[in-house]
Amino acid sequence: MKNIVKVDPHAPERRTIERAAEILRAGGLVAFPTETVYGLGALALNPHAVRKIFTAKDRPDWDPLIVHVHDLAMAHALMKRLLPQFELLVSRFWPGPLTLVVEKAPQVPDEVTARRATVALRMSWHPVAAALLEATVAPIAAPSANRFGRPSPTRAEHVAEDLGDRVDLILDAGPTPMGVESTVLDLTQSPPAILRPGGVSREQLEKVLGAVQLATGVADEVARAGLAGPGMTLKHYAPRAQVELVENREELLARADKLRHEGKRVGVLDTATTIERLAQTVFAQLRDLDAQGVDLILCVLPPPQGLGLAVRDRLLRAAGKGTPT
Ligand code: AMP
Ligand code: MG
Repeated sequence: MKNIVKVDPHAPERRTIERAAEILRAGGLVAFPTETVYGLGALALNPHAVRKIFTAKDRPDWDPLIVHVHDLAMAHALMKRLLPQFELLVSRFWPGPLTLVVEKAPQVPDEVTARRATVALRMSWHPVAAALLEATVAPIAAPSANRFGRPSPTRAEHVAEDLGDRVDLILDAGPTPMGVESTVLDLTQSPPAILRPGGVSREQLEKVLGAVQLATGVADEVARAGLAGPGMTLKHYAPRAQVELVENREELLARADKLRHEGKRVGVLDTATTIERLAQTVFAQLRDLDAQGVDLILCVLPPPQGLGLAVRDRLLRAAGKGTPT
């Protein structure tokens, strides 16, 4: 496709970054890699450009966007006041997959925050994301670059598949290093609340902050994960095929056998690997199995520790047992 351009993930070519920055400055949309997944970027302080993100993704207007910053001064300019907890977390985890929700400064447009009084801030360590922010010298609003409700994109091809020519340019730096999204931590609650588990674990946060809560309705359920628990109607990170979760390998094999006997085409998600590798590949696996046209995807849930909490959360949502984020 003509709007995809390759870029070196370690040393992004200056001309390519400049071209992308030019599109952003003109109010356009650029998809770019972060350490977690591909983001769909627009200049955060340009409401017209930000609205294009919602249209391109078919994202409902109540769902606020994450704002990427280049440096701390840029973050401070978007916040109402400085918080000791914010400074502490930033010194420990930025740049990295941690998004912090704080009270917003008046200059942050309602389009970005879905009219909330808070804004979600993040600083990615991916060299392409960092170079792009350095070139624009302005905050970039960037949610994941997928259609709303679809698995997040960890490769440029996923972005092209979902968004096609709804995006002006896709910077293709190959597969993203982490594969699951950033942890979203709300610092306006006490103790701070994880709204979405992600690349920085609850355990890592608790070492720095002391107690951290898992927001109700979101991650609690994930941690306890009654598989037979109440199925929520809203699906997210979902492939087209139905996803069915089981607790162990034996159960999976028995279930696969039974379904195949019934004439169903069954896909099995490969979870017999390290949690880091599973995080990297989980969304691509869901998309690939879908592309193979299976009726059903079977999967063993990982335990809810470390990165496992985030992967588990995404799998539960893919199975329609989570709440949307
Ligand atoms: P995405 O970038 O598409 O993975 O989604 C952004 C995530 O950040 C969503 O889960 C949003 O609900 C969350 N988020 C963004 N801004 C805020 C905010 N001001 N308050 C709470 N959550 C937010
Ligand atoms: Mg998303």
